Amino acid sequence: MSLRRQPTIPDISDLARGIGAGERAVIARAITLIESRRNDHQKAALRLVQELLPSTGKAIRVGITGAPGVGKSTTIDALGTFLTGKDHKVAVLAVDPSSARSGGSILADKTRMPRLSGDANAFVRPSPSSGTLGGVAAKTRESMLICEAAGFDVVLVETIGTGQSETMVADMTDFFLVLMLPGAGDELQGLKKGVIEIADMLAINKADGDNINRAKAAAAEYRAALQILNPRSPNWSTPVVTYSALTGAGIAELWDTVLEHRERMIKAGELEARRREQQVKWMWAMLEERVFARLKSDPILKAKLPRIEAAVAAGRMSAALAVEEIAVALGV
Ligand code: GDP
Repeated sequence: MSLRRQPTIPDISDLARGIGAGERAVIARAITLIESRRNDHQKAALRLVQELLPSTGKAIRVGITGAPGVGKSTTIDALGTFLTGKDHKVAVLAVDPSSARSGGSILADKTRMPRLSGDANAFVRPSPSSGTLGGVAAKTRESMLICEAAGFDVVLVETIGTGQSETMVADMTDFFLVLMLPGAGDELQGLKKGVIEIADMLAINKADGDNINRAKAAAAEYRAALQILNPRSPNWSTPVVTYSALTGAGIAELWDTVLEHRERMIKAGELEARRREQQVKWMWAMLEERVFARLKSDPILKAKLPRIEAAVAAGRMSAALAVEEIAVALGV
């Protein structure tokens, strides 16, 4: 076997040193290691993240979601550039649910964020492009830790508006920003209760030109709708703002709100509590994924499954009895 096909695993201490020194090539290599499905790579990645753990956790972690076309990349480009202009170091990561299915990765693409991609104080990385959605999200989360250890003090994690990926991104960030558009009259049509409940702020983009008044009207409707929902935190009621990623109007205020939220959460001890909860939740999510994958590849189960599944599909066996049979076969 040639060495080319079996690249040696990079030395973990070397990687950790390079990451600590903020070397971009090393950061990229470490993330590639994290994303690799090779068993030895995964073991090495575990050691790397564990070694870096003490120098993680210092960044402001912001999740950003919104439907395609809402202006996520334009917003991240504008916000990220605003932040590097304030001497922040900004990492942009993504969880792309479609990449889990198709292997393609569309989010956090460099061509979508032209200014930020060329910015020496920014690091833009597309979504991991294989595995289950849970797996993709878990790898993004570990990559975030690498970026933090490399000194990035703001991490923006992008996803698109599908419930599951949004929850996963909200579960790895301190602030969850939901982007909206001023609609054509029926503002509440796009209001998905699930995502609004995990939002720390709603921001209506494209408030420029002829759109300004429509955006303001949409904001008023969203504000009214939010009043009937329970706030995510007793110390924060979700604000609704308007801005324009294109002109930059409102971007500074948007960031001020992120900082205000942070100050309040720190004061109330909520930031620490949220991160503690998230860490434990990730542990369970990853364990669940692993155990499930193991179960599904079990040879005893594999042999029985087609018959059981067909019986359930045909209505000859109840789902509950099928689960019972499977559990007995597996001894769980
Ligand atoms: P994404 O799919 O959510 O990443 O959306 P993009 O950032 O690619 O934006 C979609 C389209 O909306 C592009 O043509 C942008 O130029 C445009 N766009 C984004 N932000 C604004 C804005 O603030 N105002 C206006 N008028 N257009 C915008």
